Amino acid sequence: MKRFFCQCGQEVFFENKYCSNCTQSLGFDVKSLNLITIEPVDNSLFVDLDGRHFRLCGNELDFDVCNWLVPKESAQRLCFACQFNRTIPNQKVVDVNPPINYFRWYRLEDAKKRAIYTLLSIGINISNGWHDPESGLLFDFIESEFSGDVEATKVNTGYARGIVTINSLEADDVARIQAKTHLQERQRTILGHFRHELAHYLWDKHLFKLPMSRYFSDFFGEEKFEYRESLDLYYENGPPKNWPENYISAYASAHPSEDWAETFNHYLLIFECLDTAQRIGMSNTSPQGLSAEDLIDAWRELAVKLNQVNRSIGLSDAYPFVITGQIEVKLNYVASVISEFRDAQMKK
Ligand SMILES: [Zn+2]
Ligand SMILES: [Zn+2]
Ligand SMILES: [Zn+2]
Repeated sequence: MKRFFCQCGQEVFFENKYCSNCTQSLGFDVKSLNLITIEPVDNSLFVDLDGRHFRLCGNELDFDVCNWLVPKESAQRLCFACQFNRTIPNQKVVDVNPPINYFRWYRLEDAKKRAIYTLLSIGINISNGWHDPESGLLFDFIESEFSGDVEATKVNTGYARGIVTINSLEADDVARIQAKTHLQERQRTILGHFRHELAHYLWDKHLFKLPMSRYFSDFFGEEKFEYRESLDLYYENGPPKNWPENYISAYASAHPSEDWAETFNHYLLIFECLDTAQRIGMSNTSPQGLSAEDLIDAWRELAVKLNQVNRSIGLSDAYPFVITGQIEVKLNYVASVISEFRDAQMKK
């Protein structure tokens, strides 16, 4: 991710709404993919240093959860990223202190926006399902309901027909770590969920149409292979013993389309982390324009460094995965599909 600076020179974060140094308002401009300093003009309007006018996102005005800006000329009340929401965690539950659903939604928005930022910075444009019912994307953030300690209604994080559902309990650290431990996963993050589900969405609505898609089965196996049965078997028997040789995660071994989603998820992670590392001076290699082989080499080198630093802090590894030759071949394929899609979108 880019580095962002307030006009006072202070470095600021993607999620910031104010500069911690000079208290000036900040907002994210999706057009320039930049966090910019804004000045209020009146009750609803802000202006940036270039004289462009913006409004705050409706989800910021109503719920305090969004720092993305809406251009003054837009007919939309919500920002680009918030327009992808179909269901948000119930914000009417006000008798809970602290307001749990507010924090859940806040964390989901942060991860969602990071994932969208990566797609846009790679050159992949996506549309929302309100504007484009045929091939657009929408998010449902819904949590499982409990009756006492028993999960009465179970919400599965997943993708179906243009809708990504995220169980908003994933935004609770305890619930997420419990799931991670139960499923014996090496890592489980909210951002990883978004990248994984975006992979399913992109394949289902866009990527399968590309010429490159005919090679999918050479790398991952038959996409149409019995999905439900495969997943049931996986949850019953676990992954094959030698999964680390062929799959980036145990779950990737459950089905070809899960392997695709996990590999795509890792491709976005690698791209985003290398980009950030290069911009902050931790790595000499920018991922933009790099071949997939060089990208993975640079990542292997950086991931070891990140793990060493994390271990020195007393944290678990930042990247607890091993990219074998078999997995590298699949990542190469993901990179080729992305580049073909980007080229196709540019020609439109
Ligand atoms: Zn400042
Ligand atoms: Zn917004
Ligand atoms: Zn999946």
